Amino acid sequence: MPIFEYKCNQCEKDFERLVFSGEEKNITCPGCKSQDVIKKMSASSFMGSSIGKCATSSPKGFS
Ligand SMILES: [Zn+2]
Repeated sequence: MPIFEYKCNQCEKDFERLVFSGEEKNITCPGCKSQDVIKKMSASSFMGSSIGKCATSSPKGFS
């Protein structure tokens, strides 16, 4: 389950949210209820699938 770190631009609060598919645009700050938040890439996000949409084009021939 992807847990992302967010930072609120209004009150500068850092918080973590468990984000399900489709819920990503509705993240609100638990402190001031603002939706002016930014997602931070942290070490706890091991998924890495949100880096790009070309994740399936992995390089071949590395053997
Ligand atoms: Zn806030």
